[in-house]
Amino acid sequence: MRKQIVAGNWKMNNDLSQTEALITDLKAQEKTTNAEVMVAPTAVNLSQACNSVKGSNIEVIAQNMHFAENGAYTGEISADMLKSIGVNTVILGHSERREYFNETDEMLAKKVDAALAKGMRVIFCFGEELADRKAGNEETVVESQIKNALFHLEAAAFQNIVLAYEPVWAIGTGETASPEQAQDMHAFIRKTLADTYGTEVADNMSILYGGSVKPANAEEIFSKPDVDGGLIGGASLKAEDFFAIVNAF
Ligand code: PEP
Repeated sequence: MRKQIVAGNWKMNNDLSQTEALITDLKAQEKTTNAEVMVAPTAVNLSQACNSVKGSNIEVIAQNMHFAENGAYTGEISADMLKSIGVNTVILGHSERREYFNETDEMLAKKVDAALAKGMRVIFCFGEELADRKAGNEETVVESQIKNALFHLEAAAFQNIVLAYEPVWAIGTGETASPEQAQDMHAFIRKTLADTYGTEVADNMSILYGGSVKPANAEEIFSKPDVDGGLIGGASLKAEDFFAIVNAF
């Protein structure tokens, strides 16, 4: 079912005590909402965060995982490891992973397969760079990112996938896609899904927007018919701002 989702990506921020303090603040700010609310602390604090969110409706999710089940992959984390501490959703394909850690569509397809095989839910990120948009190639780029990493899947697998359109030029830059740019791209993504998998898969897909979402612009972005929520970076580090965004629905 198509859900409203707001997920905070904390990236490489917050040590253990800061993680606990932010979760305490988030619990104090939490109000009843139809949206699913998620936060992604750094891997080393996931276990403690899972304990700390108890008593709230906040889900703790991971920022990344490896595709292998286990083995000689120094520094990596598997789906089973995440599940064993109560983490059942993972962000894959974030533009920072693609840019700084050379994650390719091919590698991401393997990560998606590994997560789904373990019954995890995937928030799959993609989006064009500024040069692509300036050249008018944003739809071609987005279409190839989605197709290369996801279109080998059966239709049923999409029940466990959430898409997050994040134009790279809007991430952490303060520059946001206009609500119209977000809507146009989300409609294109939904049509791309419908063309291959049919309207049921497309209509049930939650498509999040990410890129400098803040309390001041969330309501207008979320009001667009094909925008089902947001993946929030910087503004997710302050409980008040994060819940102002959640409450923008
Ligand atoms: C992100 O990193 O996914 C993101 C959207 O960051 P920001 O909100 O800071 O642009």
